[in-house]
Amino acid sequence: MQYSYLKASLLGALYVVLVLSPLALMLPGPTPTGRGFWMEFGVALGFVGLAMLAMQFLITGRYRNFAMGFGSDNLLQFHLATGVVAMLLVLAHPVVIIATDTHYLEFLDPRVNFMRSLALAGATFAVIAVVVTSLWRKKFRLVYEWWRVTHGGLAFIVVFVGLVHTIQVSHFTGLWWKQGIMIAVAGGAMLLLVHTRFIKPMILKKYPYKVTDVIEERAGGTTLVIEPVDHRGMHFEAGQFAWITLGDSPFSLQQHPFSFSSSAEKPKRLQFTAKPAGDFTETWRDIEPGTGAYLEGPYGAFTQRWDSPKGSVFVAGGVGVTPIMSMLRTLAQRKDSRHHMLFYANKNWEGVIFREELEELQEMLDLEVLHVLEEPPDDWDGEEGFVDLDVLERNLPKPYGEYFYYICGPKPMMDMVEKELVDRGISLPTIMSERFEIV
Ligand SMILES: Cc1cc2nc3c(=O)[nH]c(=O)nc-3n(C[C@H](O)[C@H](O)[C@H](O)COP(=O)(O)OP(=O)(O)OC[C@H]3O[C@@H](n4cnc5c(N)ncnc54)[C@H](O)[C@@H]3O)c2cc1C
Repeated sequence: MQYSYLKASLLGALYVVLVLSPLALMLPGPTPTGRGFWMEFGVALGFVGLAMLAMQFLITGRYRNFAMGFGSDNLLQFHLATGVVAMLLVLAHPVVIIATDTHYLEFLDPRVNFMRSLALAGATFAVIAVVVTSLWRKKFRLVYEWWRVTHGGLAFIVVFVGLVHTIQVSHFTGLWWKQGIMIAVAGGAMLLLVHTRFIKPMILKKYPYKVTDVIEERAGGTTLVIEPVDHRGMHFEAGQFAWITLGDSPFSLQQHPFSFSSSAEKPKRLQFTAKPAGDFTETWRDIEPGTGAYLEGPYGAFTQRWDSPKGSVFVAGGVGVTPIMSMLRTLAQRKDSRHHMLFYANKNWEGVIFREELEELQEMLDLEVLHVLEEPPDDWDGEEGFVDLDVLERNLPKPYGEYFYYICGPKPMMDMVEKELVDRGISLPTIMSERFEIV
């Protein structure tokens, strides 16, 4: 527990140092004089805002060794929160400067310098658009794939214009070495985006996969069995996920994250199970065996831990069972002898994905499965409704502190279960969650 808090605090401190570092860089050498506190404060806001925007490329670049163990959902939450702060800083930068000295309005005046005013106005619009469309993408009904491309493109433009603007104004960046550092850092950040979007797919092209089987599941779900073509496949930990592209090119806009549902013991026979949610997942049931696939991964900190004294408590809702299925299949193959319990919430009995296989797994493992049905059949004598406080109260195995907890399902269920476990004094590092709804 302490290790996680320590690691989070250290990374947080490093982040603050990095985003404030441009201020330290600006101090040596010639600096303008007699401009007053508010003017320099306005300039500082711009430098810090630009540094925060540049850091976003690292945070979202899917670098496995970066912030390891924090989980993509946490990183994306951080990305969103710091994105909003960066936007506010970038917008406050001209406001404070112009409020201090209206002479600086000329930066936005096309009659003085058309290209400069166009670039600055465009970047201002872009930074607002990046944040607003991220916060309210679903409200604006933006197609996810197009939003993602536009998001990266606009962010690139904002950082590029910010860098050029900093160097052109040159009040604090007049020296060649300062400009060199600015270009190296901001340019490096932009290269990360190029790496994520173009270089990584080129590398993926060397490691093709193909769909070898398409299995119909309950509740309209589909499992794709994906195998490597002439390479050793993907070694992952049970609970992790990969980004999947289907077809002949890894450059497709349709690249989506899916948890492995297969056992981690079988890196050459990977399985992913999805329920139709939109244009990508709806095509799964019609995919022909032989279709090409590209997998980027594995990613994720939602992984099976082997050091819990008594065993595991899994809480799954609907298709959120997929990473947990991978854990159970892996536990069975490794002949784990500890006690495990699965709370599994579904709408109705017919829609319980992997129902039959869970029964088989109960023969192989010390596994209790507690189905919770929203609309149970007439003769149902199990739990009804949702996984709520009462269901947990009645069924959670004890002592609580000797189990590790894994939660994946709809947001309201996850929020409730996480809170309930924490309220029972279960320590945070033993509670692991995977959120599918992260953007
Ligand atoms: C770590 C992780 C693991 C997942 N594992 C599974 C799984 O095992 N089975 C399963 O059915 N679903 C899983 N999902 C959800 C799955 O990625 C989305 O349902 C899928 O991307 C929807 O794409 P679509 O084109 O069919 O629908 P769309 O209409 O494009 O999207 C529906 C919603 O899904 C989300 N979404 C779409 N694309 C992405 C993306 N590239 N990244 C993140 N979210 C996206 C958005 O919130 C969007 O509004 C997982 C998501 C994450 C983040």
